[in-house]
Amino acid sequence: MHSRDLLISGGRLVDPEADELRRADLLIRDGKVVALSPNINADVPVLDATGLIVSPGFIDLHVHFREPGQEWKEDIDSGSRCAAAGGFTTVCAMPNTDPPLHDQESVRFVVERAREVGLVDLHVVGAVTTDLAGTILSPMGEMAAAGCVAFSDDGRPILDSGLMRRALEYSRQFYLPIVQHAEDTGLTRGGAMNESAISTKLGLTGMHSSAEEIVVARDLALLPLTGGRYHVAHTSCARTIELLRRARAEGLPVSCEVTPHHLALDEQAVSDCDYDANYKMNPPLRSVVDREAMIQGCVDGTIDAIATDHAPHLPDEKEIGFSAAPFGVIGLETAFSVAATTLLPHMSLRDLLRLLTTGPASVFGFKDRGRLAPGLRGDVVLFDSESEAVYSVESTHSKSRNSAFDGMRLQGKIVATVLEGRVVFGESR
Ligand SMILES: [Zn+2]
Repeated sequence: MHSRDLLISGGRLVDPEADELRRADLLIRDGKVVALSPNINADVPVLDATGLIVSPGFIDLHVHFREPGQEWKEDIDSGSRCAAAGGFTTVCAMPNTDPPLHDQESVRFVVERAREVGLVDLHVVGAVTTDLAGTILSPMGEMAAAGCVAFSDDGRPILDSGLMRRALEYSRQFYLPIVQHAEDTGLTRGGAMNESAISTKLGLTGMHSSAEEIVVARDLALLPLTGGRYHVAHTSCARTIELLRRARAEGLPVSCEVTPHHLALDEQAVSDCDYDANYKMNPPLRSVVDREAMIQGCVDGTIDAIATDHAPHLPDEKEIGFSAAPFGVIGLETAFSVAATTLLPHMSLRDLLRLLTTGPASVFGFKDRGRLAPGLRGDVVLFDSESEAVYSVESTHSKSRNSAFDGMRLQGKIVATVLEGRVVFGESR
């Protein structure tokens, strides 16, 4: 018997690329799926999944775990606990730590630290430029060798067109995408929310959605020239989705993600929240039309993945006034239930799960996960898709409390998370 052996019995298995739910047991040996069939008998620990859905573990392309450098907000240990509690077995950490993840040593440090914690399989998105300064390309080759899955200066856009061109050309050698935080900062300086009649009414400086569209349009023009792969982080506006839909139809190698908060909320939430900075994100919550376009992008397959952009900040840091507060919200633990609440009226559970499993897996080239099949990693999440509860941020495993969903009624509950055959969240029942 091995500590990475587990029999998950009595659940309904859902494979996002297969036809339907089926009642079966799932056997994991030495961390890998070896069998899926009814009534498996094996002399290994058993996890009872009766009444639950059994899915491949979720994959998040976009988290900020704040280590090294800002461990008071979050660290790899607390961030990993959030991931496990949210059903995520793979997370990709953005490089805007202090120091940034912009060379081999910094990438190795974070990966090894996450391995010691052992609650989630963490991968690094390396910086495109040294110090995220937007001027000198980072040593992408050595970072790729250290295991980076993509490159990004997230938190900041890559604004220089010549630099973006070279980044797309260079990253092509490693078959890794460039992830753009699309924001023309000349249009958003000093901004705190979406620019519209609502920002005027609230007296807050606006960030116009064209700031996102302009950068994406420029980047798309560089793709035929460079042959690089391009992924847009946290898409937020309808016109970006339209650009990407057309680019995909032309056969360009593009992909994109959306956050749970951009699916569930719009700028009206800022108007209703009495200047609560837990509704301040970058990109900001957009218009009703933009939010509907995000949902439609999930339904028609233009959007590949739901990514949390989990961005912890302490209450002290958020409670200094809406304009001065930092951007971002936590989201790993609420992602599934926010997505279920928002998207299940529009799509099947299987299609929703694709946005959390096979979709993100194909964006960053994870070939050993995302489905339930023999030979793949034994990364699994057990959930109840129908139970409803009011979310309280006090239940979070994060060091921070900056959720936009505190007090909200949400559908869907993560019951257990299994990482390579080990139960990392929930109890053996
Ligand atoms: Zn970003």
